Amino acid sequence: MEPLKDNTVEPELPYYEPVGSECELFRLAWERHLPLLLKGPTGCGKTRFVSHMAARLGRPLFTVACHDDLTAADLTGRYLLQDGETRWVDGPLTRAVREGGICYLDEVVEARKDVTVVLHPLTDDRRVLPLERTGEMLAAPPEFMLVVSYNPGYQDILKSLKPSTRQRFVALDVDFPPPELECDIVAQESGLPRERCAALVNLAARLRAMRGQDLEEGVSTRLLIYCATLMQAGMPVLEAARSTLVSPLTDDDDVQEGLMEAIRATFG
Ligand code: ADP
Repeated sequence: MEPLKDNTVEPELPYYEPVGSECELFRLAWERHLPLLLKGPTGCGKTRFVSHMAARLGRPLFTVACHDDLTAADLTGRYLLQDGETRWVDGPLTRAVREGGICYLDEVVEARKDVTVVLHPLTDDRRVLPLERTGEMLAAPPEFMLVVSYNPGYQDILKSLKPSTRQRFVALDVDFPPPELECDIVAQESGLPRERCAALVNLAARLRAMRGQDLEEGVSTRLLIYCATLMQAGMPVLEAARSTLVSPLTDDDDVQEGLMEAIRATFG
């Protein structure tokens, strides 16, 4: 790669194949200071998309995988005892605001309710982050952007975003890439030849169609990549499929057997 004039080498962008005009939407939302909500199943490329866009826009990225113990203080920061002194340490959201970065809260519905209290003033035209503990009111610079994701496929109604929160975001529906593109992605990420990836992608369509009462989640692009990676390393296809496309999805023996039947029907 050609060195740039100031002798730094242009960093490579994280690999991302656009599915539609999502890159343009992201850029526009960032330019116009609008927060973005990504709605889609797990393992369909949301995290990769955000890291790709952050790199393209040249902004630092702060990613937080939300969980049910995550509190507002985990995002904003807290006083910690360091070398016998109590010091304030910024959390990832505060750092993103101070540094004009992109803060990505993955699976935001998992977080505790108090998290929405800190997000609301950042997601309207105030664009401020109140830090109660330090008494600061941080104004977000124009480069700051908040991106959150959630998976609307989960059945749990309590784990849905409240309308008062979701109506603060520009929303983008994301799904597994269409077959041709998913094939390119799986081949690129695993190194497995494209024709063998095509068979896996066809199989994924059949397995995704079985999603329903017994199976909460369909097989993700991520799991297809795992399967292809094991196959590329020489593992027989049925074994690779069992450990990546069946076992991670369900503990139920009957459902597992149903999935394996579909796999045997495809690969014999
Ligand atoms: P999510 O955040 O939706 O759970 P990820 O972004 O971690 O999913 O995606 C899982 C994997 O799938 C990524 O690591 C990447 O290898 C691959 N992937 C999915 N979609 C794309 C895409 N459009 N372009 C490139 N890679 C993709």
